[in-house]
Amino acid sequence: MTTLEEYHSDNFIDGGWVASNSTDHIDVTDPTSEEIWGQVPSSNLVDIDAAVGAASRAFHGSGWSDIGAAGRAVYMVRLADELETRADRMAAIITSENGTAITETLLAAGHAARMLRYYAGLASLVDQDDERPFPGNDALYTQVLRQPRGVAALIAPWNFPVALVMVKLAPALIAGCTVVIKPASETPLDLRVLMEAATAAGIPPGVINLVTCGNDVAGALVEHPLVAKVAFTGSTEVGRMLAEKCGRLLRPVTLELGGKSASIVMEDANLDYFASMVNRTCLRNTGQTCYNSTRILAPRSIYDEVVDAVVGIVEATPIGDPFDPATVYGPSASAKQRDRVESYIKIGIEEGARVAVGGGGRPDHLDRGYFVRPTVFAGVSNEMRIAREEIFGPVLVVIPFDDANDAIRISNDSPFGLGGSIFTEDVDAAAAMAARLETGSVGINFYGSNQAAPFGGWKDSGIGMEYGPEAINAYSRMKSIHRQR
Ligand code: NAD
Repeated sequence: MTTLEEYHSDNFIDGGWVASNSTDHIDVTDPTSEEIWGQVPSSNLVDIDAAVGAASRAFHGSGWSDIGAAGRAVYMVRLADELETRADRMAAIITSENGTAITETLLAAGHAARMLRYYAGLASLVDQDDERPFPGNDALYTQVLRQPRGVAALIAPWNFPVALVMVKLAPALIAGCTVVIKPASETPLDLRVLMEAATAAGIPPGVINLVTCGNDVAGALVEHPLVAKVAFTGSTEVGRMLAEKCGRLLRPVTLELGGKSASIVMEDANLDYFASMVNRTCLRNTGQTCYNSTRILAPRSIYDEVVDAVVGIVEATPIGDPFDPATVYGPSASAKQRDRVESYIKIGIEEGARVAVGGGGRPDHLDRGYFVRPTVFAGVSNEMRIAREEIFGPVLVVIPFDDANDAIRISNDSPFGLGGSIFTEDVDAAAAMAARLETGSVGINFYGSNQAAPFGGWKDSGIGMEYGPEAINAYSRMKSIHRQR
């Protein structure tokens, strides 16, 4: 789609593109063609120091943290407008980086813009005069201030590379923080578009910085003395490591981690409708979405019907070139991810699960790319590794249950607790079941996260909340000034 030269990028520091001090680089590979099409610096500690230094100067000196949330909201709305004019280019870059279907990536800029506008609309919450009485003493009162934490390090994965930065960036900006963004090595180029939009929107230099680097250097970013807050989305394994570093430093950290959510299909569910929702609820982004309900729990009485419904939709869904608007399933985002998915399909077969459709390997009509035939396993017990571990690819398992209590027990019998869904005609009963699920969010007859409501993981799926007004707390420090009337 483009030339390598055009897509050799630098870091974005203090409002401009800055060559790295390192001569190492990271190649960007198109997972559909398996060709390298871009390159970014594999930055070193000097670059990290420059980016954090710029963010720190902007925090203390640019006025960003002093202009009030209402002042920052004006910039954020401008940034939203600028992003929307760049939606097509952003989509093409993301699809070339991670193979996500173009119909999905075309929504990325609009989604990011909505997020910016949503948080801009919460400016009055940040700026409000919060005066509280002293219980039992009318002569005294307390003024509660919400102040920005400082420089925030934002570390994102490759599956929704813009959205998962924006869920951090928008609340950080409205709170008054400045940021250093570290994208995933698979998807380091799409945020170029965000930096261009930020420049066009007049965001003061140093407020938003972008560095690309390997994982060790990213670890140094997390531990940099001038970083006051870390927000991470990624695997539970890396999240745990970063939590240890932050724990030692007493540095606040938000962790949005892995998942193995369950979709409970009740006996009265409309199976045609459920099948029509499988791609959005259980296999979004070719199974590479943290909250996907990748465990489907089916009543024993209609187990085979549920398996048939899932197999039917998976077989009928187009897989191939993610730039084709008809495509729903693209390739896995990288060779490493493809290998991971293939290895779990082998594990499932070894564990004795039955391949109802798929079974690994590239579909016959495709001659290259990191594609894996979407696979549905039947005859699965919740003890199997394919039911307990996050695969992060187009693999579903169908597990039988006896009754509602059994479904809740199986759903909760997981190290993770991120999303989940319940399909039934009895939505009130479903809401009562949802309240008993050990998970951060549940959808009834669909799944969709709502930017105005908190989203986050329980158990091994993370610590802290993104989205909603709650996310602003993660970038704020509270101060109480006790006063006499
Ligand atoms: P990953 O943990 O390998 O990497 C995530 C980010 O952390 C990348 O930018 C990576 O470069 C960086 N990183 C890796 N090692 C690091 C280290 N030692 N120090 C600092 N940074 C380091 O995850 P991934 O493969 O990019 O993404 C897939 C994972 O993300 C899945 O587990 C998925 O469930 C999870 N995820 C969670 C959510 C959520 O909201 N809970 C959303 C999307 C993805």
